[in-house]
Amino acid sequence: MRPEILFPLFAPVTRLPGVGPRIAKLVERVAGPHVVDLFWHVPVGLIDRRYAPTVDEAIEGRVATLTVTVDRHQPSPPRNPRVPYRVRCFDDTGSIQLVFFHGRADYLKRLLPEGAARVVSGTIERFGSELQMTHPDFIATPQELAKVQTVQPVYGLTGGLSLKVLGKAIEAALARAPDLPEWQNAAYKEREGWPGWRAALHAVHKPQELVDLEPSALPRRRLAYDELLASQLAIALARARMRHRKGRPIRGNGRLRAKVLQALHFSLTGSQSMALAEIDGDMASDKRMLRLLQGDVGSGKTVVAFLAMLSAVESGAQAALMAPTDILARQHYRTIAPLAAAAGIEVALLTGRHRGSAREAQLQGLANGAVALAVGTHALFQEDVAFHNLALAVIDEQHRFGVHQRMMLAGKGAAVDMLVMTATPIPRTLMLAAYGDLDESRLTEKPPGRQPIDTRAMPLEKLDQVVDAVGRAMDGGAKVYWVCPLVEETEDSGLAAVTERHATLKARYGERVGVVHGRMKGPDKDKVMNAFADGDVDLLVATTVIEVGVDVPEATVMVVEDAERFGLAQLHQLRGRIGRGDKPSTCLLLYASPVGATAKARLKALRDTDDGFVIAEQDLKLRGAGDVLGTKQSGLPGFRLADLAVHGDLLATARDDARLIVETDPELRTARGEALRTLLYLFERDAAILTARAG
Ligand code: ADP
Ligand code: MG
Repeated sequence: MRPEILFPLFAPVTRLPGVGPRIAKLVERVAGPHVVDLFWHVPVGLIDRRYAPTVDEAIEGRVATLTVTVDRHQPSPPRNPRVPYRVRCFDDTGSIQLVFFHGRADYLKRLLPEGAARVVSGTIERFGSELQMTHPDFIATPQELAKVQTVQPVYGLTGGLSLKVLGKAIEAALARAPDLPEWQNAAYKEREGWPGWRAALHAVHKPQELVDLEPSALPRRRLAYDELLASQLAIALARARMRHRKGRPIRGNGRLRAKVLQALHFSLTGSQSMALAEIDGDMASDKRMLRLLQGDVGSGKTVVAFLAMLSAVESGAQAALMAPTDILARQHYRTIAPLAAAAGIEVALLTGRHRGSAREAQLQGLANGAVALAVGTHALFQEDVAFHNLALAVIDEQHRFGVHQRMMLAGKGAAVDMLVMTATPIPRTLMLAAYGDLDESRLTEKPPGRQPIDTRAMPLEKLDQVVDAVGRAMDGGAKVYWVCPLVEETEDSGLAAVTERHATLKARYGERVGVVHGRMKGPDKDKVMNAFADGDVDLLVATTVIEVGVDVPEATVMVVEDAERFGLAQLHQLRGRIGRGDKPSTCLLLYASPVGATAKARLKALRDTDDGFVIAEQDLKLRGAGDVLGTKQSGLPGFRLADLAVHGDLLATARDDARLIVETDPELRTARGEALRTLLYLFERDAAILTARAG
């Protein structure tokens, strides 16, 4: 149960002054639905109203607070209301005009009586030879000077939400921040020189100088550490609970594996064998396996996963492989089906597209155990799917699935071992943040015989030359991917870009050109993909649907339009679609010039290395952690305050701290343990514990 002291913080933002239902929607968009969410919406800038020059000293473009005397009002001419209402003011050194568009005379006369002294604060502008201030942010009496002459935090906003309204709401939220028991280790806190939680929170929202806004400022670091500790502790607690739960020892006898290894036209690489041995070890133990298998595109993860699945079958149980898209599920199925046939076992393919009697037969086979393996999409964990005895779940491209979906699949069996595969190598820092000390196997070697990919960046102006070159490549027998700008698949503009490029290329190369995008119906997509894999289509215009996993070894050329708009890891993923066969490949990155510094660094990194692990680290540096995996859809914890690119050192400490806490106070019963409970609730990591318990 959430501690009572936190109740006011988890009240809806509508409890705050000035936040009605309409504003609440906007606040929710920028920060979140609860009062506590405003705590974590930290300032991105500041307005310094301490600058209080005389009129003749006031610097144009700066925000200043002036003390002036009102001279006279100059209303808009009655026939021309577009000319602004002006109020002339002065001090001993000079004069300045206050400018109001659509100013109302009665209101302004009351606010700025002629002859009275007033404090005005706003941006100093120059209009010809005149100084002016348009719509001052504050107008007050000289007695109120101290109230105006402050530093005001600036927050990220959204259309319809003003800084005034949001600032007031945040201030009110901060006023509700209670004193909470200290959960930090006292010695550590002292050494870092950190303030207490409440003081840190207030300091973060009251920056005095620009340096206070930096993630390296002490109060910011303290809050970042709080957040990291909460997440690491949640992970460590969940892991500890999981260790206590029995798994089941799964040991194959090698019978099926031997047949499959014989049927393969290659032998495993060193890293494949090593990964398989690690997986075998996990499965054979009586603990639950939760292992991440990382390897670059084309490094041969599927084979490893399939061999692991065979262990489960050999021991009399079943295994399932779940992929995020229909295309991928089918592709896995195509790889696995012939190998399974060689081993003499049945595989079911379950995707959203399967209906009718064939599906019924497959479901029956899985339920009674006649079918040993299942490959599919989310369809695998739908309600009507039952397994006779599921022992191993393999999940491909895990960051496309949330924790919840993983759990749903695991729930189809008892004590199910989990193998999670990703072709988007996750940087160490991020791994640690997301999973704590998760077991991991890495495929660092490529299967032998792969040719390096020649990667080049080119300005979009050379499009015609590229189109010519692509034609020559096709005449030489190459298959070509043409990827159109990264746009949300749901957006019509993305569709338009693909359709348009398809039309121009088709006008030139005719029926050899195909197109595939997310809006197409499944069977249509399959038809085009198949035609590209082994049919008449040589040039495939596509959106990023082809990003993950698609395997056409004959494809040796890839063109990416507007490459500067893609993330580094994503470009690497795309590029992984080529260079899969034994012929040399070329990747052309077309960019619209001029290119920004980050985009330039990305393109360079891509030309410099083909190592997904190096690229992943680079991507983290260039983009920041939040974006690397697209945290939102990933089910990975998103951080509100911690920035892994900057607070990596804190993360490692938080992990050690969490580990020690779980060892010495696993039930969180000491005084610090009690405080840590509050911390977990404060950062809403209590749900993470529950989810883990359910798995
Ligand atoms: P990933 O899933 O890691 O992207 P795949 O498992 O699809 O990679 O493997 C890519 C291709 O490499 C497949 O065609 C597969 O048959 C082949 N392959 C896998 N392992 C080896 C190996 N040890 N030697 C040669 N080819 C391999
Ligand atoms: Mg086991």
